[in-house]
Amino acid sequence: MEETAVAYTAEHQRMVVNALRAVLPERAVLFDAEDTRPYECDGLSAFAQLPMVVVLPDSEEQVVAVLKICNALKVRIVPRGAGTGLSGGALPIADGVVLSTARMSRIVNVDPYARTAVVQPGVRNLAISEAAAPHGLYYAPDPSSQIACSIGGNVAENSGGVHCLKYGLTVHNVMRVRMVTIEGDVVELGSNALDAPGLDLLAVFVGSEGMLGVVTEVTVRLIPKPRQARVILASFDDVVKGGNAVAGVIAAGIIPAGLEMMDKTSSRMVEPFVKAGYDIDAEAILLCESDGIPEEVDEEIARMTAVLEQSGATAIAVSRDEAERLRFWSGRKNAFPAAGRISPDYYCIDGTIPRRALADVLLGIQNMEQKYGLRCANVFHAGDGNLHPLILFDANQEGEFHRAEAFGAEILEMCVEFGGSITGEHGVGLEKINQMCVQFSREEMDAFLGVKAAFDPPMLLNPTKAIPTLQRCAEYGRMHVKRGALKFADLPRF
Ligand SMILES: Cc1cc2nc3c(=O)[nH]c(=O)nc-3n(C[C@H](O)[C@H](O)[C@H](O)COP(=O)(O)OP(=O)(O)OC[C@H]3O[C@@H](n4cnc5c(N)ncnc54)[C@H](O)[C@@H]3O)c2cc1C
Repeated sequence: MEETAVAYTAEHQRMVVNALRAVLPERAVLFDAEDTRPYECDGLSAFAQLPMVVVLPDSEEQVVAVLKICNALKVRIVPRGAGTGLSGGALPIADGVVLSTARMSRIVNVDPYARTAVVQPGVRNLAISEAAAPHGLYYAPDPSSQIACSIGGNVAENSGGVHCLKYGLTVHNVMRVRMVTIEGDVVELGSNALDAPGLDLLAVFVGSEGMLGVVTEVTVRLIPKPRQARVILASFDDVVKGGNAVAGVIAAGIIPAGLEMMDKTSSRMVEPFVKAGYDIDAEAILLCESDGIPEEVDEEIARMTAVLEQSGATAIAVSRDEAERLRFWSGRKNAFPAAGRISPDYYCIDGTIPRRALADVLLGIQNMEQKYGLRCANVFHAGDGNLHPLILFDANQEGEFHRAEAFGAEILEMCVEFGGSITGEHGVGLEKINQMCVQFSREEMDAFLGVKAAFDPPMLLNPTKAIPTLQRCAEYGRMHVKRGALKFADLPRF
């Protein structure tokens, strides 16, 4: 665990607390270490930092008041949803305020005619589908953390999930966002209609990791629950064949409702725990789902089976009923917790590659296991080319966490080499800030800073995340400076 020293005086803390207490209920302002401790980290628990203050507003008016005070006092703010993020996006700043939206958890309405739901930012992802279920509707983006993560966090991270291959990411399923700027202005992005006039600022905002404004309300698109879903479980004796089968399914013009891959380490770690029926001798298994009306599903399952057979599958099983479908998925869904059965700690990496590079990248990761002396389980959204290597380590062993970090960094940089990206769905946060220096030129990062400065001129919203400083890139040996001159030298650099 890493924690920096307290960076404020007691007097300053008192002044900030008093100002916040004037606009919030007393129990909505936390500042004693024992009260703020639960907010010291997100899902990337290797990094922890106690914040100076935590606020728990329960309305948009209170969010406006908090932001106006922080702006006036020049106090930095970290928005926080459920804290399940895996890239340190909600990691507090020592002298800053954590603004938690946990108490803004009301479903404002579900409209079955418009097929939309209007929800506050603290509503859990799964709760939206539960509220829509009586109307035969659901919210498609389904992060594996959906039981806990909030829609505000999903918007900030542009989260994905198993069904995003067919139904799109958060950005494709959110129609309108209300947010509060650092100056305390309430702004609506997008609209309830198919399109909104003007620049598409909604697309800029989704995935902005809490750096442009605080989400206070979201209108999401709901879609009808498919009448039927069936999944194919296919085994391969070689990861290269498995990777090529993924590319083959997409090349055949099929967009499955889900196309996930697990390597042998993953299926061996999960099978004894979940008993999903996985072939633990297979080097790779694929789960390929089809959904729709029964005739459509039958036809698509037949086409996918043919591609998988041609790609060299050694065994193929198709779910016969809903119970069997859920059993096949249960291993994939429980892979992260199952990692705890074989390793004291794991580090989940998130990068994206073109599908055709899957096999090469998986082999590259296998070589890195030897180089770093650590095991790695691969369980991921193969259809999107979105990798989730789980690096297994023991934080109590001297140097193992740093080896895991270096291993993860090398995987991300390999994704860039293969024409991919250092992010898939978990964001940059603090975790991937060095790899931003590899992925982007200084000019590109200056453009990102320009967008941030347009929304947040004093640079108070979640600074230190996502966009690296010049110094950081220089220390990482990856700064692109042309003839000693920097573009937009007048832009603030936090
Ligand atoms: C076991 C596990 C499985 C996961 N599986 C997936 C997966 O399949 N797909 C996926 O995409 N992610 C996955 N995640 C990551 C995580 O759940 C998502 O990133 C999720 O969207 C984070 O939501 P949260 O409410 O927990 O946000 P937090 O972690 O609290 O915050 C995440 C970011 O959003 C910002 N933020 C939060 N609320 C607001 C707001 N109201 N306004 C502005 N900014 C805000 C924060 O500042 C931070 O930068 C997984 C995590 C875990 C632990």
